[in-house]
Amino acid sequence: MLIRRKELLNTEVIQQIVCDRCGRTASPKDAEYEEFIQIRHRGGYASVIGDGTNWSLDVCQHCFVKVFEKYILRYDEE
Ligand SMILES: [Zn+2]
Repeated sequence: MLIRRKELLNTEVIQQIVCDRCGRTASPKDAEYEEFIQIRHRGGYASVIGDGTNWSLDVCQHCFVKVFEKYILRYDEE
């Protein structure tokens, strides 16, 4: 038998994501939220941003397509 107690936890939850390019926002309950592109990276020895520099980028799908449309390769999963 498990004996349980109620406990309030102080945790961080994502409230919104903001596009770093256009400022569009979406909350996790929006379908638009799932289409954001999130990149997290730590620069290595040859990084032009800086060795050991952490950087991030959150962009909405609309900005992603505007900036990278000609480079996007569509493919079918095998
Ligand atoms: Zn955007």
